[in-house]
Amino acid sequence: MSLELSIEFFPPQTGEGMEKLRATVARLAVLKPEFFSVTYGAGGSTRDRTLDTVMEIAAAGHSAAPHLSCIGSTREGISELLGIFTERGIRRIVALRGDLPSGMADAGEFRYANELVAFIRSETGDRFFIEVGAYPEWHPQAKSPREDLLNFKRKVDAGANSAITQYFYNADAYEHFVEQARALGVVVPIVPGIMPIANFAKLARFSDACGAEIPRWMRRKFESFGDDAESTRAFGLDVVTQLCQRLIARGAPGLHFYSMNQASLTLELCRRLGR
Ligand code: FAD
Repeated sequence: MSLELSIEFFPPQTGEGMEKLRATVARLAVLKPEFFSVTYGAGGSTRDRTLDTVMEIAAAGHSAAPHLSCIGSTREGISELLGIFTERGIRRIVALRGDLPSGMADAGEFRYANELVAFIRSETGDRFFIEVGAYPEWHPQAKSPREDLLNFKRKVDAGANSAITQYFYNADAYEHFVEQARALGVVVPIVPGIMPIANFAKLARFSDACGAEIPRWMRRKFESFGDDAESTRAFGLDVVTQLCQRLIARGAPGLHFYSMNQASLTLELCRRLGR
């Protein structure tokens, strides 16, 4: 299977967390992902930890990409960080707007991710491979699906090379989004983001906030398991495997796993997918 995989982590907060992440990276490396990526806290709150985590992964011999969100940032600050990325040999960035942390009033000098992409290109030319976010179920703040799609195209027109979607459990939404983007002339790969399901209550809370729908039939079934972690895990693996199989059958160019810094679910999903 020539499907490209990528795997996302968040930067650990402690030395112990970093130690665990090293072991997780080593386990997931057997999947030979195209790259690992590391999230970036809202308003730059994890700037150094994101960079340290990327460098740890790179030092272990893997390709690693920092996420970079621009809300609350200045051009000078982003420019400095791009310089550091360059010095450290980083060649891929996941470029995002991010969300303004509560209590932070100053949105900074960038309003949207397309402005960040344009800035990276104007400062550094083709040095970086730029990934951007995409929303098959539409971004929660979008004025309309059409506007959101046009805003997605803006990021690609500004110079993005590829896109990773928000996670979803409804393959129709992804297929519709890709069709609509292609109809607008967007040709870059649109890689589905896959969220393995470990804890349903947590997932439900997070999904409400980020606008990802959990279909009623899935929600009702997970709710019926209550605290039964084993049934949750088994059903979660089944539905996510089926989702991935369908996406692959319909031509998805790759899969991006939101690993939540855990190896086992991603490994099991990939095993079931024949990886
Ligand atoms: P944008 O593309 O800027 O879109 C945000 C909203 O503004 C949308 O509603 C869009 O329709 C609208 N919009 C966009 N451009 C314009 C324009 N020019 N004019 C008017 N309206 C416009 N968050 C983090 O804080 N750290 C992370 O590491 C992180 N990683 C992520 C990884 C992936 C793959 C994804 C999909 C999301 C990630 N997020 C992360 C979450 C992301 O930051 C939020 O979803 C955020 O609200 C939007 O970011 P964006 O880059 O998609 O924004």
